[in-house]
Amino acid sequence: MSNTEADAAALLCGALVEDDRSTGASRVDVLSAREVPLGGPRAMRVRRTLPQRQRTLIGAWCFADHFGPHRVAASGGMNVPQHPHTGLQTVSWLFSGEIEHRDTLGTHALIRPGQLNLMTGGHGIAHSEVSTPDTTVVHGVQLWVALPGEHRDADRDFQHYVPELTRVDGAGIRVFLGSLAGSTSPVRTFTPLLGAEIVIAPHTTLTLAVDAAFEHGLLVDDGDIRLLDTVLRPAELGYVPRGADTLTMVNASDAPTRTILLGGPPFGEEIVMWWNFIGRSHEDIAKAREDWEASSDRFGEELPGGRLSAPALPNAVLTPRRNPPTR
Ligand code: MN
Repeated sequence: MSNTEADAAALLCGALVEDDRSTGASRVDVLSAREVPLGGPRAMRVRRTLPQRQRTLIGAWCFADHFGPHRVAASGGMNVPQHPHTGLQTVSWLFSGEIEHRDTLGTHALIRPGQLNLMTGGHGIAHSEVSTPDTTVVHGVQLWVALPGEHRDADRDFQHYVPELTRVDGAGIRVFLGSLAGSTSPVRTFTPLLGAEIVIAPHTTLTLAVDAAFEHGLLVDDGDIRLLDTVLRPAELGYVPRGADTLTMVNASDAPTRTILLGGPPFGEEIVMWWNFIGRSHEDIAKAREDWEASSDRFGEELPGGRLSAPALPNAVLTPRRNPPTR
């Protein structure tokens, strides 16, 4: 996934963290999605809930795109030519469809529903993502994880993992990163993370034990879910600050509802995020942009086919935007 937002806002994501469990206010912040085109002639649109002005990070999760169900006949499906990443990992998780992934590590993978594909673009990587000809509907999420400073120049990497379906009373859970409901992903991450798909049965109240040191985000794919005291509508991301050791979700409807639960300890570093790059300063971003535009081998050997050019840097120095305190 490539970030095509024209303003390409620089985000400096801070670590202001306070526990406040006694205000009596709702413990859930609702982050609404904005629609963003992915680019291309019949641009598929995605619903982006991270980053946004209200919140830039949940743990190390720094980007959340939710797409579909898109009928490929109408939208052209996903067709993102090769583009670079630095300082982050990409997590592709599909609900339906199939995407062909190629990257400059040499990976050629078919991304399928229920399968984690985690690409590390520390110092630099490039990849392309195209829905396959047999795909009629694309539906899923793409998420980015910020790398902590000591690993932000990590080597290129690609990990694939197919979690088992964990059945608990009233829900089916696939844990692709971290641990939940007795299931643990073996996939290595650079900070503690939780990432899981949870499908909640109709007329079900689900309570899951979670790590109280984590902040959490629950993204609702379809239907309505009540998270703690707050109803989340489709495509909304409900944020819960750290301090919760259980999360209760209610599906009061007649149909199963799919959600994605994200979590991690608050990311204790400030980062600058611009286009498809994460750095620590304006200079980091400008250098990554310059290297990409010069076809530097920093990003590996170019793939056949087209490439996305970086947008122009803003005239001003990329100025940080701080993550708000957790109340
Ligand atoms: Mn990408």
